[in-house]
Amino acid sequence: PASGAEREVRTTCPYCGVGCGVVARVAADGAVSVRGDSGHPANRGRLCSKGSALAETLVPDGRLLHPEIDGQRVGWDEALDAVARRFSDTIATHGPESVAFYVSGQLLTEDYYAANKLMKGFIGSANIDTNSRLCMASSVVGHKRGLGADAVPGAYEDFECADLVVLVGSNLAWCHPVLNQRLLAARAERGTRIVVVDPRRTDCVDAADRHLALQAGTDAVLFNGLLAWLDDHGHRDAGFVAAHADGAEEALAAARADAPDVATVARRCGLAEAEVAAFYAEFAATGRVVTVYSQGVNQSSQGSDTVNAILNVHFLTGRIGHPGCGPFSVTGQPNAMGGREVGGLANQLAAHMGFTAEEVERVGRFWKAPCIADRPGLKAVDLFRAIEAGTVKAVWIMATNPAVSMPDAGRVRRALERCETVVVSDCIGDTDTGRLAHIRLPALGWSEKDGTVTNSDRTISRQRAFRDGAGEARADWWIVTQVARRMGFADAFPYESAAELFREHAALSAFENDGARAFDIGALQGLDDAGYEALAPFPWPWRAGEEPKMRLFGDGRFFTGHGRAQMLPVTAKPLPRSLPDGALLLNTGRLRDQWHTMTRTGLSPRLSAHVPEPRLDIHPADAAARGLADGGFARIVTGTGEALARVRLTDAQGAGTMFLPMHWTDRFTGACVVGRLIDDEAVDPLSGQPDLKRMPATVQPW
Ligand code: SF4
Repeated sequence: PASGAEREVRTTCPYCGVGCGVVARVAADGAVSVRGDSGHPANRGRLCSKGSALAETLVPDGRLLHPEIDGQRVGWDEALDAVARRFSDTIATHGPESVAFYVSGQLLTEDYYAANKLMKGFIGSANIDTNSRLCMASSVVGHKRGLGADAVPGAYEDFECADLVVLVGSNLAWCHPVLNQRLLAARAERGTRIVVVDPRRTDCVDAADRHLALQAGTDAVLFNGLLAWLDDHGHRDAGFVAAHADGAEEALAAARADAPDVATVARRCGLAEAEVAAFYAEFAATGRVVTVYSQGVNQSSQGSDTVNAILNVHFLTGRIGHPGCGPFSVTGQPNAMGGREVGGLANQLAAHMGFTAEEVERVGRFWKAPCIADRPGLKAVDLFRAIEAGTVKAVWIMATNPAVSMPDAGRVRRALERCETVVVSDCIGDTDTGRLAHIRLPALGWSEKDGTVTNSDRTISRQRAFRDGAGEARADWWIVTQVARRMGFADAFPYESAAELFREHAALSAFENDGARAFDIGALQGLDDAGYEALAPFPWPWRAGEEPKMRLFGDGRFFTGHGRAQMLPVTAKPLPRSLPDGALLLNTGRLRDQWHTMTRTGLSPRLSAHVPEPRLDIHPADAAARGLADGGFARIVTGTGEALARVRLTDAQGAGTMFLPMHWTDRFTGACVVGRLIDDEAVDPLSGQPDLKRMPATVQPW
């Protein structure tokens, strides 16, 4: 970027899945300030505490500035040669399944596209998975089974024209704050009713009409019960079901077996019958209902089924495809959706295509790929276990910190310690994972890199550079491209700009796509560089010759092969792990003012003041029974590790449960790395998403 003259650049926030537009103002002296972009459809000028502190995080502290091999600074050529040689040698000796990439929802779509193409198309393995596996994989499965595609049906506008918004396992006030602001503004204007379904009394409850503080992990019972109740009380939209949905009777039979009446639901969920009955009646009486769900649903060993239990209710009542209606998954990361679009998950190929023979042949032909992977690769938990077992011998980790964030993080560390080749590309110099790397590659960070991201309502936005890169940092897509060329794939990796990658991605999305595949941005495949630079936010799909579609399924046509929604029979399961006497269920999650492992938000004193140290929330009765005092220290012990945290007594935390934030790492204090406390045994069998919210743990005074 030019320097000297004052200028403003439109970009997007790098934090949560709301995907707010940000205007970065660069003064003549280089000082940066930010404000919300009033022209961006996600936030219309708003920013939350994290977004408004972005300028404070643009400091040189802690950046990885130069390539390194075994801790020694080297030039780019030497580092790239070494990565290519180590991966090529490993593949030559042990085959393509002996290498892997572990990538991130922090990457831009163009970065993701290049990494996925290299691994699946040219190395010939599908061993590329993303930290979105920990975030949204269950929604992907639920969407594909129910809707026929991983496509969020609605748009943020639906929050503002709904009459009832049900928040399930979603602390929207902390984790998607601007969306929550939009919801509260709509409530002030038109009296939107809000129901919170969450074991914790989060800040969302302050503005809610009803809080169903159900027992952890019983959401599927509640929604199975709702499905049966709606049908029993004459609220089926018979016309919609007959014309557009399959599987209603099977889904209802399973729901009735699981949750036949309000009394059973109340007992299994730990709620009062009157609360359950009132919620069911309100849902039935309200035409415009949006059911919002997030990590409380997804991060579960039955996350996929719970998503389908929610979808079933909307299908039965025809509450989908219209303004103010529908199930709505809010994603955790800024580009979790973009990664899903290009195939960042090990079980997707590219452009929402999977591994059917037809799809493999089609993508292989488009890429002119000589040895395209023809079957899914290892999902995150299995990938790190394969590293531990020695079957995966070289791994490249991009823009994520699995030594902290993966379940059984201690095991992940041990696996990386024994791995023959660990490459880490990151913008941060000292991360827990980077400490275990043989080769470290400096990547551009927010404000320096160019590309696109997709937010929770399918809006694709540009993230634009407005500062020079730190040190020798380079774009992730450039690093991947350089390695690919050195591995002998120069013809397939000619890229000199992010725009070239975007055009190819758009062309692949439309390639032999007659409308049967949801993800299609073919209208943009001929976009020139100036058009890419000026690209305004838009929702996908945007097919050639058509307008972008903000809301899907209004015509009752779904992306299943026969065009009909699929209702799934769901049976709620018990807790995935036994609960020993005296143990509590440990829940983990985000704080309002921190992001992931705090490499960026930790640079802002203002943000760090919100909760300055690891804090264990526990109900006063549970604390008293264990001799824990407010403000004292607690030792939290599980089968995989232990942690130290400050105690906060609060009846917002349900009895029998505790909550620990996930952000702290060895960089800050080695005493509370939450990933060490969660085992990797309880995993959704369909999505591969670990259960991060119901870990049995004992607690005692330190
Ligand atoms: Fe950034 Fe999310 Fe806050 Fe918007 S709501 S400013 S995307 S962190």
